[in-house]
Amino acid sequence: MLLDNGVVVDQSEPVLKNENGAFRVLLIEDNSLDAELITRTLMQHGQNLSVDRVETLADALLAVECAEYQAVLSDLELPDSSGISTVKQLLACSPQVPVIVVTGHEDEKTAVEALKFGAQDYLYKGHEGVSSTIRSVRYAMERKRFCDQLVHMAHYDQLTGLANRSLFNERLKQSIERARRAGTKTGLLFIDVDQFKQINDAFGHEVGDELLKHVAERLLQFSRSTDVAARLSGDEFAVILESVHSDREAHLVAQRVVETFTQPFEIVGRDISCSVSVGVALVPDNASNAKELVRSADAAMYQVKRSGRNGVAMFDYSSYRSMQARMHLLEELRLAVEKKQFVIHFQPQIDLRTGQIWGLEALVRWQHPERGLVFPMEFIPLLEEEGRIVELGGWIIREVCRYQSMWRAEGLRDVRVAVNVSPKQLLSAEFMPHLKSAFLDYGVSAGELELEITEHLFAEETSLIRSRLTELRSQGVSVAIDDFGTGYSSLGYLRDFPIDVLKVDQSFVQRLCYQVRDAEIARAVISLGDILGLEVVAEGVEEESQLKFLKEAGCAVAQGFFFSEAKPEDAVYEWLLPGKKLWVDN
Ligand code: C2E
Ligand code: CA
Ligand code: CA
Repeated sequence: MLLDNGVVVDQSEPVLKNENGAFRVLLIEDNSLDAELITRTLMQHGQNLSVDRVETLADALLAVECAEYQAVLSDLELPDSSGISTVKQLLACSPQVPVIVVTGHEDEKTAVEALKFGAQDYLYKGHEGVSSTIRSVRYAMERKRFCDQLVHMAHYDQLTGLANRSLFNERLKQSIERARRAGTKTGLLFIDVDQFKQINDAFGHEVGDELLKHVAERLLQFSRSTDVAARLSGDEFAVILESVHSDREAHLVAQRVVETFTQPFEIVGRDISCSVSVGVALVPDNASNAKELVRSADAAMYQVKRSGRNGVAMFDYSSYRSMQARMHLLEELRLAVEKKQFVIHFQPQIDLRTGQIWGLEALVRWQHPERGLVFPMEFIPLLEEEGRIVELGGWIIREVCRYQSMWRAEGLRDVRVAVNVSPKQLLSAEFMPHLKSAFLDYGVSAGELELEITEHLFAEETSLIRSRLTELRSQGVSVAIDDFGTGYSSLGYLRDFPIDVLKVDQSFVQRLCYQVRDAEIARAVISLGDILGLEVVAEGVEEESQLKFLKEAGCAVAQGFFFSEAKPEDAVYEWLLPGKKLWVDN
């Protein structure tokens, strides 16, 4: 049977049972006849059942405070209390016990009212048989248990058993209030598990979940009974430090948290190590209310992340300001992505053998409503860090394909366009589908697209990179290594992965004529490309002398302000005119 509150109860002969054996009911009834009748009805049922009877609410409140009852049956009209207030007072005094209202025929309205205020059921005097009375008590208990479970679920995190965000907020407010009255401080530790996502991705969600449980246990281990440990979201935890006296005291606790994480966790037979970043803030020192305190501790935590994770930082105002600026920028960017406030500019790459266009590099700009054109270094790294590059990156590829189909429709010759892709974008599940649908929708062939990736990509996750690059190669998309020589990675990947182009980083190009070492590096990259059969593109060429050096060293393609900076789309029409030379060797 399904009650309307969703509790499933079986309808077999009702029996009143209690885990501990004895089942105690408190009956509040001033009328002796009624009391006897109800008691007899209940007792017919019962091994191990006992009924205590009181006549007044005052006695009842005393009774529920002294003994543990499984249920309370109460008349509403008592010598010292009447109607709904009887229920309210009972529940206020002992919220965990189910209350069943026993009422005369005439006050059904009050009985229904009682249900609204938390009574579990009502019975009419003299009307009920044994089994319906018993059933009522039992259902009342089940419903009560279910309601308590709901309340528990609303306040506690199901995975770790720690307080959840809503209970945390409540407790934090109370704690701040107490500290204010007592003239002490409330401390807050904002704790983020370092690189949790990587661990989760590498070992799977089950291990990730286990790890979070272990983290919760460690947090509980060192918390005092008055402290509240909570899980705020994913891998973010917090501990409320009740009445601390100084920021040093709070800092010491945070230090201990970080230290407890030097021991690895044993999870399904594996030792898994993880560290945490802890931000510390206090009321009244760094915030005046709960919301501000969370923000401040979060800002301090973020400071730890920026300076290499695994440590503690106390809140300070400048870190708060920098986080605020970042939040503001992120919010603006979210809108900008939604409203497509971006535009693609193109920079020509010149074939030094012919002086004509070899290809184009697409470079994104943000058309900010107030600030004007914003350059990508101000927002691409931020979007990448926040894992929000995928959507914009997908749009950029589509936009490039759209231009290519337009140029073709206008009779321009085909040109390969290089698009910068960030590691998260390339490795995202959406990447290949985005790419294929852009090709399909605009009738662009894969050979017209080049993807520029950086060496940083090769620092981790090799198998996914391999399959992605292999897939791109089989589709006919070419791949360039951008900023080549700056990524500190082994050159082995050049042998192991399908790559088509090396781009000599601009820092080498710009120092070519002044620094022997840079000149040597540039020359080495060019011959490396030659040996491996890769095209070499020198970028950041600003001066004729640099160009001369590169050409003599055997570099075939160059790009830089010397030829042209990146320009809006209309410039491309001129660059692609038949026979048009962007540079003439003299
Ligand atoms: P990058 O891929 O190394 O792009 C070359 C940058 O150097 C561009 O800056 C370009 O305007 C600039 N540049 C070109 N020639 C010269 C020169 O002769 N001298 C100097 N000093 N600079 C030159 P930009 O457009 O500001 O882009 C900066 C970076 O932002 C790019 O570096 C790239 O990493 C990233 N980026 C740009 N567009 C995108 C995009 O669509 N997606 C992604 N993921 N990243 C992008
Ligand atoms: Ca690039
Ligand atoms: Ca570059």
